[in-house]
Amino acid sequence: MKKLSIRDLDLEGKRIFVRVDFNVPLNEDGKIQNDARIKLSLPTIQYALSRGAKVILASHLGRPGGKINPNMSLRPVAVAIKSALGCPVKMADSCIGSEVVSQSQLIKSGEILLLENLRFHPGEEANEIKFAQQLATLCDLYVNDAFGTVHRAHASTTGIIPFVGQSAVGFLMEKELLNLGCAITNPKRPYVAIIGGAKISGKIEIVEKLIKLVDVILIGGGMAYTFLKAKGVEVGRSLVESDKIILAQDLLKKSKKQGSLIVLPVDHLVVENLRPGASIRSTLVDKTPEESIGVDIGPATCKIFEEKISTAKTIFWNGPLGIFEMADFSQGTLNIAKAVSESQAMTIVGGGDSISALSKAGVTEKINHVSTGGGASLEFLSGKNLPGLEALSSQ
Ligand code: AMP
Repeated sequence: MKKLSIRDLDLEGKRIFVRVDFNVPLNEDGKIQNDARIKLSLPTIQYALSRGAKVILASHLGRPGGKINPNMSLRPVAVAIKSALGCPVKMADSCIGSEVVSQSQLIKSGEILLLENLRFHPGEEANEIKFAQQLATLCDLYVNDAFGTVHRAHASTTGIIPFVGQSAVGFLMEKELLNLGCAITNPKRPYVAIIGGAKISGKIEIVEKLIKLVDVILIGGGMAYTFLKAKGVEVGRSLVESDKIILAQDLLKKSKKQGSLIVLPVDHLVVENLRPGASIRSTLVDKTPEESIGVDIGPATCKIFEEKISTAKTIFWNGPLGIFEMADFSQGTLNIAKAVSESQAMTIVGGGDSISALSKAGVTEKINHVSTGGGASLEFLSGKNLPGLEALSSQ
C-alpha cells in the first residue's frame, strides 16, 4: 500500500493542511509539560515551509468532548512552534467558519496558521461530512503526520480527504510506517510481543490477531488476570473483565493450535488496598488471597519473561506490567524495560505508559523504534487496517 509522500507534492504557493498530533500534556497553569510531540513534526513543517507552502496545522488536544474548553486550547502550542522555528505562527480562534477561511486565504507562502482544537467540534470525532468539507475549504493539499490518530476515522483523518486535491504522508508518519513495517514484513524470529496495561476489551482483540503473527506473547499487568481467570485461577480482587473470560479461554486454545505461545505470570505482588504504603506480599498467582489485588508481576515471572526476551529477534511491547505509576508496584515494568533495551532484537515500543517506563528506567535511547502511537501501533502490527492511512492518495 504505497502512499504519496509529502515529497511527491508540488507545494509552492499551495495551502497545505497538515494533520499533526500536538496532543501535548499541559500543566495546570497551561504550560506545556513535554513538547516531544511538537518537535517530532517539525521536519514536515520545515520542509513544507522551505518549499513555499502556506502551512495550516490542525490537531486535537485532550478530550473536550465536542465542546469549547479554554483549558484545552492549542494556543500554548502556537507559542512553542514559534520559538522552535523562529517564524510567526498565526493562531485561529476556531478550525472552521468564515473567519478561519479568510485567515487561510490571507497567509502567505512560508507562513503558518495553527487551527484551534479540532475536538472542540463534535463533527471531528463523529466524522461528519459537513465538518470535513468545512475543513477542506481551508486548503489545496492534505498531509497526515499524526500517526497517533491514524487508526481513527475522524473528519480530519479520513472525512476531509475526498474533498482535497492530493493527500500524502508526512515524515513522521513515514518513519513510523517504515520502522513498524519491519515487524510486519518478514520479522526476524523468534518474534515476542509483550502486552500489558488495563484496557482489556480494547487489547484482547489485538491478542487474537497477534497469535497468528508472533511466536510468543507475554501477557502481564491488568491484562493477565482475565486470562488467568480463564484458566480457572482465582485472582482475588484483581482486575478481571468477566465478559471477556470466554474469549480469553478461546484464545488460549487457539494459541496452542496456531503455534504461538501465550505466557502468563506465575507470581505477582498483591495488596489489600491500593493506597501508597499498603503492605505488599509476593505470592504465586494460584495462591492469591481472596481479598488481594494483583499490582505487579513477581520475580519468578520477571525471570521467565526476561528469558523469552533475551532470545527474541523481534520485540514489540505495549502496556505496563503493573501499576507502575506507583513506585512500589513499578519494579516488574522497569525490569522488562531494561530487558527489552538490552536485547539484540529489533525493538519496538508503543503506548504512553511503556514509553514513560522506558524513560523512568533510563533506557529510551537503546530502543530501535519508540512509536508515537500506542493504539495505532498495536492495530498496525496486528494487521488491522488504519483508516487514516487507507484514505490517502496512492502512488
Ligand atoms: P493501557 O492503557 O491499557 O496500557 O493501561 C495502562 C494502565 O494499566 C496503567 O495506568 C497501569 O496502572 C494499569 N495497570 C497495569 N497493571 C495493572 C494491574 N495489575 N491492575 C490494574 N491496573 C494495571
